[in-house]
Amino acid sequence: MKLFHVLKSQQFDRERLDYLCSLSTVVRKVAKSRAGSDFLRSRLSHRRAMLYFTQPSTRTFLSFLNACQILGIQTSEIRDPSTSSEYKGEDLKDALRTFSSYVDLIVMRTNREGVADRIADHLDATDRPIPVINAGSGKDQHPSQALLDVYTLHRSFQFKGGIDGKTIAMVGDLARGRTVRSLCYLMKNYEDVRLVFVSPHGFGMLPDLKEFLTKRSIAFEETDDLRDVLPRCDALYMTRVQDEHDVDDESHSFDADRFTLHYDDLARLREDAVIMHPLPRRQEIDRRIDGDSRAMYWRQARNGMWMRVAMIATIFDVAGEILDHAADVYTTSELRDVGP
Ligand code: ASP
Repeated sequence: MKLFHVLKSQQFDRERLDYLCSLSTVVRKVAKSRAGSDFLRSRLSHRRAMLYFTQPSTRTFLSFLNACQILGIQTSEIRDPSTSSEYKGEDLKDALRTFSSYVDLIVMRTNREGVADRIADHLDATDRPIPVINAGSGKDQHPSQALLDVYTLHRSFQFKGGIDGKTIAMVGDLARGRTVRSLCYLMKNYEDVRLVFVSPHGFGMLPDLKEFLTKRSIAFEETDDLRDVLPRCDALYMTRVQDEHDVDDESHSFDADRFTLHYDDLARLREDAVIMHPLPRRQEIDRRIDGDSRAMYWRQARNGMWMRVAMIATIFDVAGEILDHAADVYTTSELRDVGP
C-alpha cells in the first residue's frame, strides 16, 4: 500500500481505509509488549519529522508527536509563527522548503484552507520532495481526524455489519467544522450510508459538500431538531460552535443548548448507538454521559494516535515489516483482541 502526502479525505479509497484500520489495530497490539514497542521504535529511528502547528492544537499535536515517538521518529516543532521567520516577512513556501531540508516529514496545521496542498505541490517541484500531512486546514479539512473517526466507526460496528448501511447524524456548527466535512468526504467509500445534518439555521453544511454527496448518491437530510433524530441514528457525531472563525460575532445566534446532548436524551438513543466528538468539548455532551457505554469520544481520541502511527508507517513503507512481525508473534484472533 503506497501513501505519500495526506492532504484531503477525497484521496482515500475503501481499500486504503480498510488497510489503515486493520494496521492501526495491529500496531496497537504490537505496542503492548516491551519487545513489540522496541521493534516499532526501531523502524524509523533514522527519520525526522517537523510538526508545524501554527493554529492551536492539543490532541492532534500530541497524538502526532506520540505516533512519531512510537515509531522512533525524532521531532522538531514550530507552534507559534511569531517565533519563525514568517514574522520577518518570509514566505511560507520558503520557510517550509528550508524545513524540508532538515526533516523527512512535515505535519502541518494552519488556519487557512489549502495551505498544505500548496506546500506539498511546492516541495514536489524541488529536489527534495518529502511527504506533507495536513493536520487541519482552516474551516476546510482535517483528514487525519476523519481517518481516526472512520477507524472508531469501523471498530464500533465491526460485529454489526460495518459502516455500510449506517445512519450517522452530525450535529453543531457544520458550516465551519472541518472534521465533519472531512468525514463526509470519506463516506463515499461506504454503501448505503445515510447522513443527517443537525444544525441551526445559518450554520448548516455548505453547498459544495452537499453537491459532492448528491453527485456520489450519498443520502443526506437536514434538520434543526436533534431530539427527533436521536432514535434513528447509529452514530451521533457532536461538535462545538467554531466561534474562532467569527467575523462579525455570528456565533451569538447559535443556540448551543438545542444542539447539546442532555443526560435525559440518552433514553431516546438506541442501545447500540455510539456517541462521538472530535473534542474539545464545551457543553455539547453532558459530562454525566461520559460513563455511558455508548460514549466513544475518549476511545476516539486514543484511536487517533494508532491511526496516525498506521498512516506514518505506511508513508515510510514499514507497514509490511510490522504486519510480518505481528503475524510471527500473534495469532489472528489475538490480533483482533486489542481492548479499548
Ligand atoms: N479538534 C478539532 C479541530 O481541530 C475539532 C474542534 O476544534 O472543534 O477541528
